[in-house]
Amino acid sequence: MKSRRDFLQKLSASALSLPFIPSLALAEPEQGNELPYQGQVLRVAICGLGSYGTRVADAMQSSKMAKLVGVISGTPSKVKDWQAKYNIPEKNCYNYENFDAIKDNRDIDAVYIITPNSLHKPQAIRVAQAGKHVICEKPIAVNAAEGQAMVDACKKANVKFLVGYRMHFEPKTLEIIRLRNAGEFGKVLFFQGLCGFRIGDPNQWRLKKELAGGGAMMDIGIYAVNGSRYMIGEEPIWVTAQETKTNPEKFKEGIDETIMFQLGFPSGAVASCLSTYSMNNLDRFFLNGEKGFAEMQPSTGYGPIKARTNSGELTHPHVTHQTVQMDEMAGIILQGKKPVVPVDGEEGVKDLKIMDAIYKAVKTGKKEDLKL
Ligand code: NDP
Repeated sequence: MKSRRDFLQKLSASALSLPFIPSLALAEPEQGNELPYQGQVLRVAICGLGSYGTRVADAMQSSKMAKLVGVISGTPSKVKDWQAKYNIPEKNCYNYENFDAIKDNRDIDAVYIITPNSLHKPQAIRVAQAGKHVICEKPIAVNAAEGQAMVDACKKANVKFLVGYRMHFEPKTLEIIRLRNAGEFGKVLFFQGLCGFRIGDPNQWRLKKELAGGGAMMDIGIYAVNGSRYMIGEEPIWVTAQETKTNPEKFKEGIDETIMFQLGFPSGAVASCLSTYSMNNLDRFFLNGEKGFAEMQPSTGYGPIKARTNSGELTHPHVTHQTVQMDEMAGIILQGKKPVVPVDGEEGVKDLKIMDAIYKAVKTGKKEDLKL
C-alpha cells in the first residue's frame, strides 16, 4: 500500500502547499483557460496527525473544494509543524481534551477522523454533538453496533457522516462498475479480492486489540469486503470464513493474521477473498461474468491502479485518490451530490456487519446468514 516513491512525491507536493483559504474564497486558477473555482469550500480539521492524516493533508492542498484549516492532535510538536506547513491559525488547533469547543468555531465545517480504529466512535460522536460534519477513516468502528451508534448520533445532530472510502471515486474502479452495469461482462458470477501486506513493528497500535479492534481484516481485509459489494453490485446474504496463523506471538488473541472468506449474493454470484498481514504486494481484484472479466492489480493501493478487461487495458490517467475524494466529499456535503458508490456511514456499518459475521464464522465453522 505505501510505496516510498509515492511518499516522496507527496513530500514534494506538500512543499508547494497553498496558503490558508477561507470559505467562499477564490481557489487557484486551473490549467488552460478555465475560470478559477469560486464556489463554497469545505473547511476541514484533521483529527490524528499520523501517517495517513499527513497523506490526506498533503493531497488536500490540491483539492479545489476542500481546504485543511484546523487540527485535533495529542502531540503539540506536530501541531506546531502543521501550523507552519499548512498555515493553520492557532484558534483552529485543538487537543483530544478540548475539541468539543469546536462547536463555537465558525471557520470549521467538518472534522476528518484519522486515528486508531477504536477511537473513531467516541471522537465521531463528540464531533457530531459539536454540530460539525464527520468524515471518518475505515473501519468506522470496531463492530457494527458501534458503527450504528455513530450513524445515529450524526442523524440526531443533523450532520453528514462520510467514510474515507477513497476507491469509491477512483476512475478505473468507476469505469469497471460502468462496464458491469452496461452488461459488458454478462451476468456477474464471481469476484476474487486478495488484500494484504507484511506488517512490521510488533508494538504498533494495529497489533493491539483494544485500539485496532482486530487484525488484518479490520485494516486491509475491509477492502475485499467493501470491494466485493461494489464490484458485484449486490449485498451478500451469507458468509463462510477460515483463519490461519503462522505467528501467534506477533498476532495475539483477537488479532487475525490471515483470514479466507467467501460471500454469497442473491443472484447466485460468489466472492472468494483473502485478508492477511503476512504477504507483501497482495492487492488484486478479479471479476468474472458469463461473458467477460475485469482484473485490477494493484486494485486498492494508492496507485497508479492497473486494470484490464477482456477488451483490453484501461488507460484512465492516475489521480491522487485523496485529492479527488476530498473534492467529491465537499460536493456531497455542500451540494448534496450523490456518488456512484455511496460513502455514507451506513456503508461503513454494512462492511462491519459482514466483518462481524466473518469473525463469527471463523469461530463456528458454519455458514452465517447476513442481513444488511
Ligand atoms: P498512525 O499511527 O500513523 O496515526 C494515527 C494517529 O492517531 C497518531 O499519529 C496520533 O496522532 C493519533 N492517536 C491518538 N491516539 C492514539 C493512540 N492511542 N495510539 C496511536 N495513535 C493515536 O495511523 P494511520 O494514520 O496509518 O491510521 C489511522 C487511521 O487511518 C486508521 O483507522 C486506518 O485504518 C486509517 N487508514 C486509512 C487508509 C486509507 O487508505 N483509507 C490508509 C492508512 C490508514 P496525534 O499525535 O496527532 O494525536
